[in-house]
Amino acid sequence: MTIVADHPGTGNSSSIGMLIPLEDNPSTDYVFEKKSSFYSESAQEDPILKAVKHLMVRQKILSILIVPLIVAGEVIGTIGCDITTQNRKLTPEEISLAEILANLVAGRIEQARLLKVEKKRTAELAMLHETSLAITQPYDLSILHRQIIEKAVWLLGASAGMLYLRTDALDIFECKVSYNNQYDPVGTKLHLGEGAAGIVAKTNQPLIIPNYGSWEKKPATFHKVTDDFPLLSVPVNWQSEVKGVIQIAREPGKPTFEKSDVELLSLFSSQVAVTLENSRLYQEVQELAVLDPLTQVYNRRGFAEFAIREIERAQRFNHSLALLFLDIDHFKEVNDTHGHAAGDQILIGIADRCRNTLRNVDVISRHGGEEFLVLLLESNLRAAQKIANRVQSVIKDYPFQTDDGPISITISIGVAEFNDQVNGLNTLIHNADMALYKAKSSGRNRVVIFQPES
Ligand code: GH3
Ligand code: MG
Ligand code: MG
Repeated sequence: MTIVADHPGTGNSSSIGMLIPLEDNPSTDYVFEKKSSFYSESAQEDPILKAVKHLMVRQKILSILIVPLIVAGEVIGTIGCDITTQNRKLTPEEISLAEILANLVAGRIEQARLLKVEKKRTAELAMLHETSLAITQPYDLSILHRQIIEKAVWLLGASAGMLYLRTDALDIFECKVSYNNQYDPVGTKLHLGEGAAGIVAKTNQPLIIPNYGSWEKKPATFHKVTDDFPLLSVPVNWQSEVKGVIQIAREPGKPTFEKSDVELLSLFSSQVAVTLENSRLYQEVQELAVLDPLTQVYNRRGFAEFAIREIERAQRFNHSLALLFLDIDHFKEVNDTHGHAAGDQILIGIADRCRNTLRNVDVISRHGGEEFLVLLLESNLRAAQKIANRVQSVIKDYPFQTDDGPISITISIGVAEFNDQVNGLNTLIHNADMALYKAKSSGRNRVVIFQPES
């Protein structure tokens, strides 16, 4: 115990901060076990007070009353009433009065503690809310994973953190993010039951390791870690399956994690589980999608499915087929001058103008950033060239209306045709790309047809 407040008698100095041992101390044993007061009229000689004899002598205490402070049946401290006057004895009524006072004091101490806990909890809930909002925004998985760990570290006032996620091999967890660690655990793979993350993954229970460096179950990869820091690991659990493990660490020598830390990180982790599940679903939907979300023309995947079928048909029925490869000229400059949002509006405009210029059977796709492919059904090279010229002029002749005002642009187009020398979609795209390269290198704003000998 430590003395936290006192009122020293005349001529005495304060004892605040002084330590009272609980071991080998009959007076505290008495008060803590009996949960009742101890009164002695020979403070300096009483064998029960032997552990604090030096204090009795120094403060010239002749008689002493030690009253326990009891909260919920537990002794949390004591009040000592020292008597330094000769022949001053306490009556049973005075002792009862001191006990009543001690009860009131114990109640107030407990109130103050509860209030502190409550304040901490309110602050934590506010932080939890803030963190949860932060991790529901990004859809880029690597950014999301990083934010999860940074926010967990911040929320718990820790100094470092790690995120392990379940891999496709279901019983292996891989470290995806490391934040502020002395060593780099990213890429570390742990089996169920192996190391702290593996144990948490297996048991689906949080785990506190007060001194990681001396922990005997460290996996081989972390043998070199000898610093004794506290580590808290909690499972990320979705529909009673462990999807990952969040770990946070404090600096060596800092106090270890407590039950309230486990509760807070577990609450956060349940939010993480929902977010991870959402982003997994989002990715799944993205993978199924065949349209480009910005321009609403086919994306690469949708286009490939369609084009491969059309190439087979063209082969079988000997139909002609041609491909245009469009790329905006100096589009980087447009973005730099007018902003990315205006650039996006131009991309949407180009898709619209292509749709309006082409026949319904032709297939438009966004091949990448500012590159479009157009598959022209039943068109030979000559016909394709004409269509390409039309698309090229309809884009350069009228400015695009954007939030940054009207913007004029030009495009370059490469044209290629499907024939016996072309063995599939990739070759067709490659040929059109070669022609596009020529269009660019010969000055841009033009249509160039692929020539095999070139
Ligand atoms: P070049 O005439 O040689 O084609 O010049 P360029 O500046 O167009 O060069 P390149 O084709 O390599 O540049 C692609 C640029 O397109 C980079 C980027 O600024 C822009 N871009 C790519 N995707 C998008 C997008 O989705 N939106 C917007 N606004 N810009 C994009
Ligand atoms: Mg480009
Ligand atoms: Mg370009």
